[in-house]
Amino acid sequence: MDVPFQYCDELGPNKIIHVYEPELALKGVLVVDNTATGPAIGGLRMAADATTDECFRLARAMTLKNAAAGLPHGGGKSVIIADPKQPKEKKEQLIRAFAHALRDAGDYIFGPDMGTNEESMAWVRDEIGRSVGLPREIGGIPLDEIGATGWGLFQAAQVAVPYCDFELSGAKVVVQGFGSVGKHAARFLNHEGALLVGTSDSSGGIYNQGGLDVSALIQHKSQHLPITSFPGGTACTQDDILDMACDIWIPAARPDVVNEDNVSRLNTKLVLQGANIPFTHGAEKQLHQQGVCIVPDFIANAGGVICAAMEYQGTTESIAMQVIEDKIRRNTEEVLTISHRDTITPREAATKMAMQRVNKAMGFRRWNTFSNAPNYL
Ligand code: NAD
Repeated sequence: MDVPFQYCDELGPNKIIHVYEPELALKGVLVVDNTATGPAIGGLRMAADATTDECFRLARAMTLKNAAAGLPHGGGKSVIIADPKQPKEKKEQLIRAFAHALRDAGDYIFGPDMGTNEESMAWVRDEIGRSVGLPREIGGIPLDEIGATGWGLFQAAQVAVPYCDFELSGAKVVVQGFGSVGKHAARFLNHEGALLVGTSDSSGGIYNQGGLDVSALIQHKSQHLPITSFPGGTACTQDDILDMACDIWIPAARPDVVNEDNVSRLNTKLVLQGANIPFTHGAEKQLHQQGVCIVPDFIANAGGVICAAMEYQGTTESIAMQVIEDKIRRNTEEVLTISHRDTITPREAATKMAMQRVNKAMGFRRWNTFSNAPNYL
């Protein structure tokens, strides 16, 4: 049982709403963390094992991500605790009911996340008129379809590679989670000559030291086939993905997949965090001390939310992709430079940068909790 106010600190969360509808077996949570920089944008996740704790941590990551990207949006996140692979009619019912229950939470704008997509956002928009990441037909920029987050990860890779001793062309890449984020990151990197040597999904893993055919694998997955049945590689377990030697390792699935118990198994030079909160702090620190360059989640995977914010402003897809490129390149460079200069982890550098922006925004507010807050800077 959650303890009320257990998450509160000087940033938030501003509100936590639990939604329960017994007739539909709907259980969901919304966390609006901090709205000093504007109404919160954050994804709606559908996962059977999602928790309030996870929702809060993801909402906080969104506060930092949106601030780091200089967007006029605060951080929030919502989860529906359910299997995302259930029949479409049932899924639509749950998403519509959840959105309807949150119709008055005007400081939260829904976006897509794991287990939801553009179609889900169209249902939310139809219910309450407040969502981004919409299908093209209703004025959206379909960020998962075009690979906005993968595009941003590719930009982060280009900036980070000079900090490591390898070239992007010919680099070996492993992607955990070949979904919206993972497959597009693999596609953009592969286009630049990098080889996808291993990847996984919820069914298991696949590898090929000579490089998997990324387009053929995307085509295979589009037929809803498990990755392990792809003919162009050797099947393995989900867990084997951790041990594969590579130059770039991209987590693009669930939180906390790398922790103190398994971090020593990673054999890579660069980590680009496509997933949100994929590593525990301890694991991340350990890798950093071993000389592995890590571009943290809220810097590397901001492409999706930047795209969503651009859609909200009514701009075009090509401008959105350019803005993602500019913002992620600038932030990655700044974070890695500060990390080297001040001998701190990239996450510490990124947090410092984001907190400076949130701090300033909070200073403009009537309820300026930061005047009594501990000094982050
Ligand atoms: P998705 O549902 O499209 O894809 C997730 C993939 O991970 C699926 O292929 C699934 O089968 C696989 N998977 C699930 N559990 C796994 C496991 N234990 N091991 C290996 N694979 C597993 O989701 P997505 O939109 O690609 O999001 C992935 C991650 O990236 C999430 O953490 C999400 O919060 C984060 N993220 C997404 C976006 C976005 O634009 N979609 C933006 C920023 C961050």
